[in-house]
Amino acid sequence: MLTKVAGAVSTSPQINPITTDSVPIETALANGVLTKRWREPIIFPQDTSCTVGRDSIARYIKAEQHRRRDSVRRALDKRPKHIYFTFDDGPLIGSRAIDSIVTAKDIRVSAFLVGRHRKMSRALNRAFEKYKENSLIECYNHSFSHAKNRFTTFYNNPIGAYDDFAKNEVDLGLRHKIVRMPGRNIWIYDDMRRVDLQSGAGTADLLATEGFKIFGWDVEWKIHGLTGKPIQSVDEIYTRLRNYMNNKSSMEPNNVVLLMHDDMFRSTHGQELLTNLIDTLKQNTDFSFEFMSTYPHRY
Ligand SMILES: [Zn+2]
Repeated sequence: MLTKVAGAVSTSPQINPITTDSVPIETALANGVLTKRWREPIIFPQDTSCTVGRDSIARYIKAEQHRRRDSVRRALDKRPKHIYFTFDDGPLIGSRAIDSIVTAKDIRVSAFLVGRHRKMSRALNRAFEKYKENSLIECYNHSFSHAKNRFTTFYNNPIGAYDDFAKNEVDLGLRHKIVRMPGRNIWIYDDMRRVDLQSGAGTADLLATEGFKIFGWDVEWKIHGLTGKPIQSVDEIYTRLRNYMNNKSSMEPNNVVLLMHDDMFRSTHGQELLTNLIDTLKQNTDFSFEFMSTYPHRY
């Protein structure tokens, strides 16, 4: 996933890879050293006295990357692991159930809200108020109109799209400058920028310039709202979350973001599945449930 690392060849003579790796990573503090090393390209130690074939360089880099990643993975595995439950498109029918379940289970979750939905009924407005009152739920921005589900048209006008997010912020009284873009898996925060579809990039960059952090997701869970029939079972989604955590294949190692939608939890069956997933994670892992406002925890 982190394409920056793969195949990066440099023959810069001044950097010696042995000294780069000689800091004892087991004792490195939680200051991002491990994350940095996980991403950093392998540098080939140039020896000017002999010429080395490209194949040998490629073999060296592959072996070295393998060796380094194994050691960094072992070190990261000893550090805390963080999971982010994120619910999109609320308030919707289903939001009240999420509110009750996270309260009963005492876990922190993140809600990316659509202001337009709140105006659709008194019940949905009440669901929004419950979210805001709940200290285990942080409310973030998912645009006012949800692009009316016409994403390309919406993003073709970055200023109009930006205004829609700004309206949502004011309308819902959002305290955090945190956005998830409708229909796009785009990340812009700190030193990171990853864009899935170019349409959307202009709006995302404009939001970032105005001080918003934009977060996508690593894993998505889908359940049919009306029937409660899951596309992926609790077991499948639990296994995926564990694999992302173990393989460090998420956007940030030791941090995994799960995307769900509020309308997945309309039916009691859907609600049971959510409870089941939380219980399974609590019983079998030491992952801590976090708000997106604390993302990422780097080691
Ligand atoms: Zn959405």
